[in-house]
This record gives sequence, C-alpha cells and structure tokens, in this order.
Amino acid sequence: MKLSVIGCGYLGAVHASAMAELGHEVVGIDIDARKIEQLAAGKPPFYEPGLPEILTSAMASGRLRFSTDIADAAGAQVHFIGVGTPQKAGSHAADLSYVDAAVQSLLPHLAAGDLVVGKSTVPVGTAARLADVIEASGSGASLAWNPEFLREGFAVKDTITPDRLVYGVPRGDAGQHATALLNEVYASAIAAETPLIVTDYATAELVKVAANAFLATKISFINAMSEIADVSGANVTELADAIGFDNRIGRRFLNAGVGFGGGCLPKDIRAFTARAEELGRGDSVAFLKEVDTINMRQRQRVVAMTLQALDKPVYTAKVAVLGLSFKPHSDDVRDSPALDVAVQLRGLGADVVATDPQGIENSRLRHPQLTYSTSIEETLRGADAVVLVTEWAEFKQIDPAWAAALVRVPIIIDGRNTLDAHAWRAAGWTYRGLGRP
Ligand code: NAD
Repeated sequence: MKLSVIGCGYLGAVHASAMAELGHEVVGIDIDARKIEQLAAGKPPFYEPGLPEILTSAMASGRLRFSTDIADAAGAQVHFIGVGTPQKAGSHAADLSYVDAAVQSLLPHLAAGDLVVGKSTVPVGTAARLADVIEASGSGASLAWNPEFLREGFAVKDTITPDRLVYGVPRGDAGQHATALLNEVYASAIAAETPLIVTDYATAELVKVAANAFLATKISFINAMSEIADVSGANVTELADAIGFDNRIGRRFLNAGVGFGGGCLPKDIRAFTARAEELGRGDSVAFLKEVDTINMRQRQRVVAMTLQALDKPVYTAKVAVLGLSFKPHSDDVRDSPALDVAVQLRGLGADVVATDPQGIENSRLRHPQLTYSTSIEETLRGADAVVLVTEWAEFKQIDPAWAAALVRVPIIIDGRNTLDAHAWRAAGWTYRGLGRP
C-alpha cells in the first residue's frame, strides 16, 4: 500500500520505517527540515534501538522516502498523523495546533477513498471534530483514530508486533472501509492474531489516555507506599514483590523511585484532567491530580535525601548524577525526572556532573549550565554524593568497590531502587533508597 506519515518524531519516524519494512511504500513528512535531512540520509534524529537498521534497510529497498513537502502525501491511500500534542503553555490542556495544522495542510492533497488515520494522543472529541473538517473539505476522504501504544526504547518491536490494535472508526460503510484499509496496513499483525478492537472515535481516543492514566496511577501508588515505608521502617520492594504475586495486581510498574516523566505520561494525565473538566466531569478523574502531585514530589524527595546525606553544605559539594534521560534505552529528556533532579541540585549551588549513555546531547540543549561527562569514572571522581536517577544497565553494573575508590565520600542515593543495597553497603557506601530501610 502507499502510505504517508505526517510528523516524523519518536512516533512517526519509527512508524514510517516499520511500515516500509513491512512492505508498504511510505513517504515520511515533517516540517522540521533538519530532521528530514537526517532521516533522508539514513540517520535517525534520536536514539531508538533497532531504528537505524530498519531505516537503512527500508531506504535501500526504495520503499521509504522523506520530504518536507506535504504535497508528497498525494497518491497515498492512508495518511497517518503522528505530530506532537504537547502540554499547552500556561495550561494543563493538550496543544492541538500541530494536529490541526497537519490536517489542514493535508486537505488539498486528499482524494476520494483516502483514509486519514490519527495516531497522536488527543483529548476525547478531537477525532469527531476533525472528521467534520475532512468531510467539509469535500475530498471524499474519511478519518479513523488508531492510538499508538509504543514504548520508547522498544518502539520498533512495539510497532511491528503491537500487543493490541485499536481502530476508532465512523459508523456504517465508512467504518467498514476504514477497517478494511487498516487491516491491510497491519496485515502481518492481523495474521499473527494480534487482539483487535474496532470501536468508535471516542472510545479509541479514551483507550490511550486511560491506559496511560492507569500506568501513571500504578507508579504513584507504589511511590506513595514507599513514602509510608520510609516513616514506618517497611521495605517497599518486598511489599511490591508480595502484592505483585497477586495476578490481579501484577508486579510490573510497581517500582518505587523518582517517578515517571517523558513526552507522554505527565502531559497525557494533565490533558485528560483538563478535558474531563471541560466535559463537566473533572470529579471523575480528580485523583489524577494527586497522581501527578505524588509523582512530582518524588523529585523533591530525591533532592532532599541528597541534601540530608551530604556531610557538607550543598553549595560546596560535588554531586555526581547518573542518568538524564527519562528512562533507559532512550535519549528523550522531555519532562525527565533525572534531568530535573540534576537541575534542582545545580540550582541549590551544587557542582553537578551528570552522565548518561544517550541523554547528554538533548540535556545540554535544554540546560547548558550543567556539567556533563561521557565517562562514569570522571563523573564519580571526587564526588561528595552520587545520585542514580535513570536505571541504565551501565549504572546497575557499576562495581561499588571500584566506585568507592573514586569518590570523596561514598554516599549513594538510589533514586530508582535498582542497586543491590547489601553489596553497596558491604563496599563501604552509605546507601539510601526510597522506602528501603
Ligand atoms: P515528537 O515531538 O518527537 O514528534 C512530533 C513531530 O511532528 C516533530 O518532528 C514535528 O516537527 C512534527 N510536526 C509538527 N507539526 C507538523 C506538521 N504540521 N506537519 C508535519 N510535521 C509536523 O513527538 P512524539 O513523541 O513522536 O509524539 C507524537 C504523538 O504521538 C504525540 O501525540 C504523543 O503523545 C504520541 N505518542 C508518543 C509516544 C512516544 O513514546 N513518543 C507513544 C505513543 C503516542
């Protein structure tokens, strides 16, 4: 099939490459000329495991090309919209201006029978509004909403073999047409009997934000338990193991730590709250404000733990920060708790040296005032405290005895509860985790 993918960021670049890899003829379009130049040269503009390989092979096959010109979308049967929906400045609501602009720019290039497919995460009601815009254009094209569930770090696998597909489609013949086209796009996943939910626009839009709200709630729940563990002497990791054995609860997403971040969860729960308020049901999701508050509090908590552990005033201390990206296997530092902790400590006057296997470049663009090092050894040398905030394997594998010989004072704040506390203590470290006695 001929496809266009509008917006080639974390979602779109992977989607375009994966669809071409699956045999479709794809044009990826973005208004960011630099990004398109890099992609066209076969270089992903961000770190995503497996993307360089499929990008290179799809381009070599001749099935994938990139453009800044929306007119190049003409001729495709299916047009994916994967542009950003960030938090609006000064508000909790989603900024839909990129989605609106992408659809407007596409209208003149649509032909009868074409399907526009929204993949961006949007407030419920957006698809119905955009369907009216497309209908009013008289192009004869229609709209489906097909939310994306990929996880950065696993985006290629999640796109090629998703764990479920959700199509939000209009009623009647238009819905059947949309479903048939999407089934053709995702033929390999359909053949692999991937669970498929064909539903209406509103449900499809809500599935995505509900999933993110649930995951965010699970993380804040265990972080709240870790705060109680701190004041009661309990161990939150053992608690999580014990409740996680109940398969109604499950162990995943129950790791206490510095909290969630990134370009999705924080802004998605805020946008959900804002949309629910617009719909007169702010009360139904009021708990998400608490989820957000608990989450943001963890960053303060890790900073406070660091100040408390230091044997000298923070403005005279060198603090080594291990981690910048919001999670491992990603260079994404959007709303990253790790970067936030580094910035807060720097703001308090600490001499912060931060390292991350992939997140330095993006962090430097946002916070040039921090000192960055690509070397763990250099980061640790002479430190008065070490703060681990992103659970990269590189950090988990640090030998505590080796590290103890580098720092000035062996104090480690494990902001991800990911290190072996016994091993670090045995090597002479003062170890502090969250909710871990
Ligand atoms: P991103 O910022 O990395 O990418 C968005 C891209 O859209 C940018 O390259 C931007 O230049 C481009 N763009 C903006 N306006 C455009 C226009 N009018 N025409 C063409 N291109 C345009 O964002 P992302 O992380 O890829 O997220 C995109 C959407 O997907 C968001 O709604 C997000 O919530 C959702 N989503 C993201 C993920 C993820 O893990 N990143 C997962 C699921 C869903």
